[in-house]
Amino acid sequence: MQFKNTPNTTGLTCNCTSWLDHWMKNNGSHSTPQCSVIQCTTKAVVGGRVKACDDEHSPWLIVPLCSAHNASHFTDCFDVKASVRRNPVSANAEKSCRKK
Ligand SMILES: [Zn+2]
Ligand SMILES: [Zn+2]
Repeated sequence: MQFKNTPNTTGLTCNCTSWLDHWMKNNGSHSTPQCSVIQCTTKAVVGGRVKACDDEHSPWLIVPLCSAHNASHFTDCFDVKASVRRNPVSANAEKSCRKK
């Protein structure tokens, strides 16, 4: 499954410091991950809000992204690393942080 960066995220909120923090918390990660885009080895700076490329109704997911891949002009569909795909992090706080 491929994902695309979807910057219009009205209504998504969480009590985490940032979406990157949100992703790390949900993965039990204590160090800053690399960007999720396959073959990109740059350190992530944000938690990007993405959707499945082929499904308008897919749930919002958070994946770590570097600044280049979080740019608003980066609208290509992309593959994510297997490690990221294995642990999808929902952007829906009701189903993630607040229930923990
Ligand atoms: Zn959170
Ligand atoms: Zn990247």
